[in-house]
Amino acid sequence: MGKRFHRVVAIDGPAASGKSSVARELARRLHFAYVNSGAIYRVITWHILQKGIDPGDSDRVAQTVESARISCRLQNNESRILIDDVDPAEYLRDDRVNENVSRVSSLPRVRAIVVQKLRGYAHHQDLVMEGRDIGSVVFPDTPYKFYVDASPDVRSRRRAAQGQRDEIAVRDQADSSRRVSPLVVAKDAHVIDTSHLTIEGVVSEIIAQLKRMGLRI
Ligand code: C5P
Repeated sequence: MGKRFHRVVAIDGPAASGKSSVARELARRLHFAYVNSGAIYRVITWHILQKGIDPGDSDRVAQTVESARISCRLQNNESRILIDDVDPAEYLRDDRVNENVSRVSSLPRVRAIVVQKLRGYAHHQDLVMEGRDIGSVVFPDTPYKFYVDASPDVRSRRRAAQGQRDEIAVRDQADSSRRVSPLVVAKDAHVIDTSHLTIEGVVSEIIAQLKRMGLRI
């Protein structure tokens, strides 16, 4: 029999939709752990680039990821990822990672590994997990699914305000059109447009919905 999962609140959505800020604050309010699934794809992409491997060489990328030691832990109730004992947290928003992460994350062999790691987190703790396929693929059985979105304009401005060069339209196109686990609105997800809401406003809306659904908080 498979191991039982703890409770999982899934927060999916496109780049710069406000997922990370919302998911982190929601986790704090619920006393759940916060897991940023995009960070694992970013760690893997950093590792590939660091080794000088061409991100377009699918077989080599997949072999390298399959033989890497990827350790997913929780520290202060947040996910922390080490690859071959290195924690590259400070490099995860580098331009070259932004530019290549969608290509690396589109590989089925890479996704198979990451999905297993993400499910592992739920063996130990209640979670708020953010990403692209958390409600649709990673935890399809959780009843607590949210899809946060914002207009392309608002999202570009948010990224620019963070001082990042990030071609979010290019990533969104790649993430939505890939063959395996594309970014989709899970059919039973609650959709929230964050364009005109504060983080606090979105978190309050999600908590109200979770209470209506009977989540014990
Ligand atoms: O969330 P973030 O923008 O940091 O994610 C970086 C990239 O990782 C995304 O553009 C996407 O290609 C990939 N990703 C994914 N599935 C997830 C989370 C992220 O494919 N669940």
